[in-house]
Amino acid sequence: MARYIDADQCDEIIEKELGIYDTTELKEMLSYFPTADVQEVKHGEWIKTERSEYYNWECSLCNGLVEFRSDYCPECGAKMVEEKVKENN
Ligand SMILES: [Zn+2]
Repeated sequence: MARYIDADQCDEIIEKELGIYDTTELKEMLSYFPTADVQEVKHGEWIKTERSEYYNWECSLCNGLVEFRSDYCPECGAKMVEEKVKENN
């Protein structure tokens, strides 16, 4: 699987952390690499809830309520990972 980096952040780190202030050659070298439009993936969890009579699960990111868990939150689009069971006392 391809791994992506933020080229602008890479420039900043090279300048600040490595102390290389003339990054002209490096930027030219980076321009030879293929680029891609990449969208950051938000990750959330389904949390068991009793907030609603009809909806059993709550998104940890947007607090959206759903009846059935799914791979993605229909409200905010987050990719859902492992289930977190919240105990209500
Ligand atoms: Zn959500």
